[in-house]
Amino acid sequence: MDQIEVAGARLHNLKNVNAVIPKKKFVVVTGVSGSGKSSFLLDTLHQESQHLYLRAAGLSHNFSQADSFDLIRGLSPTIAVEQRIVGNLNPRSVVGTSTRLLNLLALVYANEGESLDAAHHDRSEFTPGMFLFNSPHGQCPECQGRGSVMQVDWQAIFPDRNASLEELHRFAYFYPKKKFEDKAYIEKRLVNFGERFGVTASTRFSDLSSEAQDVFLTYRPPRSRSKSQPQLIFYGIHTVMEERLKRGEVKVPNLQTAKLCPACEGHRIQERAMRVRWHGAHIGDLGRMEASELQAFIRNVQNHRDKRDVTSRILHEILKTLDALQLVGLSYLTLYRELPTLSGGELQRLHIMLQLTAKFDSVIYIFDEPTAGLHETEKSQMISSFRQLRDDGNTVIVIEHDEQVIRSADTILDFGPGAGRLGGTLLYSGSLDGFLAHETSLSAASLRSNSWPPKSYSYDSKETKSRFTISDARTHNLQGITVDVPLHCMIGVCGVSGSGKSSLILDSLLPKLDEQLARRGAGPAPKSDLLPESDGEESDQVLVRSVAELSDAPDLDGYIVVTQKLPRRFETSCVATFLGVWDAIRKVFAAQESAIRLGLDAGAFSFNSTGACSQCGGSGHTKRWMGNLLFRDLCTLCDGARFHAEVLQVRHREKSIADILNLSVEDAQCHFEEHPKIRKMLGTLVEIGMGYISMGQSLTTLSGGETQRLKLARELVKGNPGHYLYVLDEPTVGLSRYDTEKLLILLNRLVSSGHSVLVIEHDPYVLSFCDHLIELGHGGGSQGGRLVATGTPSELKANVASVTGRYLMSSPS
Ligand code: ADP
Ligand code: ADP
Ligand code: ZN
Ligand code: ZN
Repeated sequence: MDQIEVAGARLHNLKNVNAVIPKKKFVVVTGVSGSGKSSFLLDTLHQESQHLYLRAAGLSHNFSQADSFDLIRGLSPTIAVEQRIVGNLNPRSVVGTSTRLLNLLALVYANEGESLDAAHHDRSEFTPGMFLFNSPHGQCPECQGRGSVMQVDWQAIFPDRNASLEELHRFAYFYPKKKFEDKAYIEKRLVNFGERFGVTASTRFSDLSSEAQDVFLTYRPPRSRSKSQPQLIFYGIHTVMEERLKRGEVKVPNLQTAKLCPACEGHRIQERAMRVRWHGAHIGDLGRMEASELQAFIRNVQNHRDKRDVTSRILHEILKTLDALQLVGLSYLTLYRELPTLSGGELQRLHIMLQLTAKFDSVIYIFDEPTAGLHETEKSQMISSFRQLRDDGNTVIVIEHDEQVIRSADTILDFGPGAGRLGGTLLYSGSLDGFLAHETSLSAASLRSNSWPPKSYSYDSKETKSRFTISDARTHNLQGITVDVPLHCMIGVCGVSGSGKSSLILDSLLPKLDEQLARRGAGPAPKSDLLPESDGEESDQVLVRSVAELSDAPDLDGYIVVTQKLPRRFETSCVATFLGVWDAIRKVFAAQESAIRLGLDAGAFSFNSTGACSQCGGSGHTKRWMGNLLFRDLCTLCDGARFHAEVLQVRHREKSIADILNLSVEDAQCHFEEHPKIRKMLGTLVEIGMGYISMGQSLTTLSGGETQRLKLARELVKGNPGHYLYVLDEPTVGLSRYDTEKLLILLNRLVSSGHSVLVIEHDPYVLSFCDHLIELGHGGGSQGGRLVATGTPSELKANVASVTGRYLMSSPS
């Protein structure tokens, strides 16, 4: 069949979608966030293909999820490369192992490597394993092939020599807590030390004798106590910190840093392997080269080679793979670069590159926003990759919001019109021209016009009162740059991928800001009770050291990194409880006459306390296992209402508390129109286009974009006093232009309520809306790390050095 036919798709919010997708074409799927694109492509089409495959392989006898669609025909094997990479990435997988480039190079070394101690080692002894850092025969024993060893960074823990002993001790015991009231606890721990050296808790560290300083830092009481010698009962602050790090109580990147392994100096392999050279280099040298350098090195070798043997064929294979890396814009990476340190976009491009080299045909590829993280200039290469895959005979289906990609599609499918229950229909399928003319599609409308939300504050670059300066930044590829950051405005950081944006902001600025905040208080200021540190999952901790200076930013109370992820502890929350509006609503119910009569207080109207249904414990359903399948049945006692029958008797304007949970935010706003506080809180969500979600909706069912907006809305609703720097790393991933507009409204309001916003972005639409831009470049990796241009969007547009400037739109007034 030359097309895929789907009839009656109805998973999640899909409303009996019928679709015909032409095969061997480049298909782009658009629609606002939450409209049903993933439900259709990933959860229906891809799932069904997986299922058919498992059944054909005899690995499953289940019927398909047939109740989620009527018919799917013409399916071929699908390969889905998702934005959210599932599962944990092994920190030992690096670019060179996932592409097999290191394995190929190991073969070359086994075949042609020359030992520096030729007398002892005959070449025929070499095995490929000897050259691989992840093989026990090859890895450096000191670092087990990691290339680095962990070290506590005492400088960061102990920043101020003028601090008092008590302050330093308190820091060691309680970091990262800011406040610790129990002074006596600390003083008790200092008594013994004070007596021995004749000092008090308020003595400054710098006033101690050098012997006392040593003891104060590193003393650890011996395990066995000898009676004859009175021991000092005291723990040095390094000792305390080491113990706490070991116990996992503190896990702050800038307290522990990776140091280059002294044995292999980052080459990851053992001495013996480093003594084997091929054209002057050992394999560790090649592992640490950027892919583009390696490409030049191998090409040079190959050009001077007249042999046609096995090794030549391997070299050819290596070059083909390196070319593919270049095509997807990743040639600034080294083969030793660890996968967990790559961004989602980089990982996805790596996956795409692996597909390009696999040379399949008749496969259906589904890519989820592959241009995430790519600069305008890099997108056209990505588009050529898709066309190549298509020309090889594959079907390429891409979920995208990017204008360039949409405009280069063979066919467009558009879902909508809105999100959630307001979406779920296939609005359009066909050519670009027809799409652009579509009347009700929000995605099409936003491609036709460029309008920005109005700004609710004014910014004058000449009159910024507060700012800070990052200077001499050298983290990763940064070339000792100095960058001025004005505050109380929207700052955009841009530049091609790999140019150093994250290195500058996430790996240089934020750790330094942590230190500064820690120095000012006894610990870092709480970044917000909602979002301590980064608000995402605990990632594979890959610890980096920030090499930069930061000038004082005294009027900043902290920073908050806002991701699209839902912090684990909010997995059981619903929209209303998360937003903080539920407390106010419970009070309204508790004040009703019937509640008072029944003796129900506000606590009873919470589904995780006394008011909860006794059978299901407030979840509304009961769980049942059949084999290893989990079924959820509607609770027979409360019928899904989650509350105790008595609680449900209490009505407010004829609705029970359970009815309120089922209302959409918009309807709830009307329901509580006489309660200004509740109305206002809910109004924030309505204003940013999220009035359609229901009050009781579990946060786990929201899309990344919805989660991010809800988190920002919560910050606004809470009215964080003070001045916080909100940091967002590519917030527009997964967002259509329509959603992006709503996001800008939120960011804009954060600034007008006294905060600062910094986004790392590529989207020219967002960058054009920023007040101040910082552009890094020119290239990625060693070709980047410099400040290319900085200023207002119109200044960048006028700056010939700025690559980004060319893509900026005429800024909003
Ligand atoms: P898109 O990919 O267009 O952003 P999705 O397909 O992810 O949209 O979501 C469409 C709708 O389905 C949204 O309202 C979302 O909240 C809902 N949804 C997504 N996943 C689930 C799920 N596992 N259970 C229930 N609803 C879901
Ligand atoms: P951008 O955010 O602009 O895409 P990055 O700051 O992520 O760029 O990367 C800049 C350079 O620093 C690249 O060469 C990248 O490979 C390198 N780099 C980034 N993070 C790490 C890391 N954790 N370990 C080693 N190198 C890194
Ligand atoms: Zn080592
Ligand atoms: Zn129940």
